[in-house]
Amino acid sequence: MSSGKRLQVLNSHISPPPSAMASEKDAALAAVPSDSPTIFDKIIKKEIPANVVYEDDKVLAFRDINPQAPTHIVLIPKVRDGLTGLSKAEERHIEILGRLLYTAKVVAKQENLKEGFRIVINDGPKGCQSVYHIHVHLLGGRQMNWPPG
Ligand code: AMP
Repeated sequence: MSSGKRLQVLNSHISPPPSAMASEKDAALAAVPSDSPTIFDKIIKKEIPANVVYEDDKVLAFRDINPQAPTHIVLIPKVRDGLTGLSKAEERHIEILGRLLYTAKVVAKQENLKEGFRIVINDGPKGCQSVYHIHVHLLGGRQMNWPPG
């Protein structure tokens, strides 16, 4: 294998191809920040299927439909309560925000991410948020880069 090809293979493992990054960004730019119900409400109500990996009375976690890492899980509160995004957080949300992060750690253990993982919360168009129901991304199973894109 040529060194150029080897680098391409290595890079494709580390980060999504430029075309994938563009479509993620396009989806985020196309999404209009709003209080309207989102696709996550349909998942909560079991109106559409999801690959659920964890559920309790407050939090639901399922595999991302467009994974950016070997393990990519989305954790959401079952009741949005105005939390379309982190920038809308108020004091009453402190408990659920802590619970989302703690649950991310529980799920990371369940997924055997012993060597580390990354937590991401996208906020607003410039943060590449595409679904306006607050959620925590749990990514793992590959080496992450810094700074993120
Ligand atoms: P964000 O871009 O931070 O708003 O993240 C929204 C995430 O939800 C994206 O990573 C999508 O791939 C993911 N997503 C959207 N629809 C679904 C679905 N039906 N099932 C699982 N994940 C989804």
